[in-house]
Amino acid sequence: MSELNHRKASGTAFVTGPWGERFEGATLSCCHCQFTWVLQKGSGKVRGFCTSCMRPHCGGSNCWECVPIEQRLENIEAGRPELTPAPVKVFVPGGAPRPFC
Ligand SMILES: [Zn+2]
Ligand SMILES: [Zn+2]
Repeated sequence: MSELNHRKASGTAFVTGPWGERFEGATLSCCHCQFTWVLQKGSGKVRGFCTSCMRPHCGGSNCWECVPIEQRLENIEAGRPELTPAPVKVFVPGGAPRPFC
């Protein structure tokens, strides 16, 4: 586990195994589905990093495209497919867009 991973960790997990052995590890959570995992060196798990959210994601098949959890919940509420990406927001210089006359 690298120093970098430790500093970016979003939490710490305390796990007790079946024989009472205790394990403590830094955790990260996915910026797209909120899945939380314990950092394990050499686990072989492929995780990703979203450059839009600037946060790690779990590497799950639904998480390689940037659809943050808030957007997923909005999609479900609006009856859209869960993985519909957010609409592109256009910045209009000079204040709020005026209504068409
Ligand atoms: Zn995920
Ligand atoms: Zn993202």
